[in-house]
Amino acid sequence: MCAASSRALFGHIPSFSFEFFPPKTPEGARSLTNTILELQDFRPGFVSVTYGAGGGSRRLTREVVTELQNRGIPTVPHLTCVGHTEEELEEILHGYINAGARAIMALRGDPPRNAPAALTREAFHHASELVRFIRSWEERQRLPFRLTIGVAGFPEGHPDSRNRLKEMDYLKAKLDEGADYICTQLFFDNHAFFDYRDRCRLMGIDVPIIAGIMPVTTISGMNRMAELSAGTNFPARLLKAMLRAGGDKQSIERIGINYASNQCGELLDADVDGIHFYTLNRSRATLEIYRNLGINNYFDVDRIHMLNDIYRS
Ligand SMILES: Cc1cc2nc3c(=O)[nH]c(=O)nc-3n(C[C@H](O)[C@H](O)[C@H](O)COP(=O)(O)OP(=O)(O)OC[C@H]3O[C@@H](n4cnc5c(N)ncnc54)[C@H](O)[C@@H]3O)c2cc1C
Repeated sequence: MCAASSRALFGHIPSFSFEFFPPKTPEGARSLTNTILELQDFRPGFVSVTYGAGGGSRRLTREVVTELQNRGIPTVPHLTCVGHTEEELEEILHGYINAGARAIMALRGDPPRNAPAALTREAFHHASELVRFIRSWEERQRLPFRLTIGVAGFPEGHPDSRNRLKEMDYLKAKLDEGADYICTQLFFDNHAFFDYRDRCRLMGIDVPIIAGIMPVTTISGMNRMAELSAGTNFPARLLKAMLRAGGDKQSIERIGINYASNQCGELLDADVDGIHFYTLNRSRATLEIYRNLGINNYFDVDRIHMLNDIYRS
């Protein structure tokens, strides 16, 4: 692990970060630009940009990364190894570095359902192999800096894993290969996160663990989340509140934002290393959560260091 480079990426702990996906239409691009402008004022520790497993959005991810880096926002492009050869991965890495990225989120990705043939040519089957590959590529390139590498973590278990103990070994392998931090799948049950963090620490995993948060803003969005983040628990408390809203869209959004605000507040009280907001390229919900938490204070880095000194003395 390289705590120094992780800290450089996050700026301070706890870090606040946002995730975007590359838009596919000009309208989507305009909306993302507006979102970036609104969230930029909050000076995130970093933002990340997803990558479509299977290579569909390779160019798009790089374009968004370039735009964000040009705005002076530290950006973490995602990279998935599924379906890619080593040569393709190298080309993508070059593109990211040329765009100004100094950090990569290294993922396996999910095999595309409609293109099974692509998988026969892939160089790597697991994210740990991708992390190893990035570290050796970086050495061969003699980069004048050390890339910060993030990997995915699943507090409620990865849907493919039948053995949760083995899954922790595989997570540890990603760190042993040189990853610097973990960013988690979205979750609504903080107990699951706290237990996961404890299990990581028991395994000797001592890198920052960033909590993935996505506020529910619509019922259809919640159903989509359940599909995409298979295995994520939707606590009865959240569902009951949603039912009470009786289908009123504004109430549902308010409940989702309040729920996520309370979740973040509890995580911060429990010294979470960072909170990563899955924004879906929209700023409204994230801004509301910031307001509810009065998070502005957290951006005074000197104050944070001062508080840290007080707590540790
Ligand atoms: C924060 C975050 C960001 C994401 N961003 C994207 C994105 O931009 N694009 C995208 O397509 N997807 C993204 N995903 C989804 C992710 O690609 C999928 O969830 C994928 O199925 C798992 O990726 P991984 O990197 O955790 O894979 P791995 O760490 O390789 O794990 C995948 C599965 O294989 C098992 N495993 C690992 N190593 C071994 C081994 N040696 N032997 C046997 N089994 C093993 C694990 O236990 C797990 O069940 C993201 C997920 C998260 C949490």
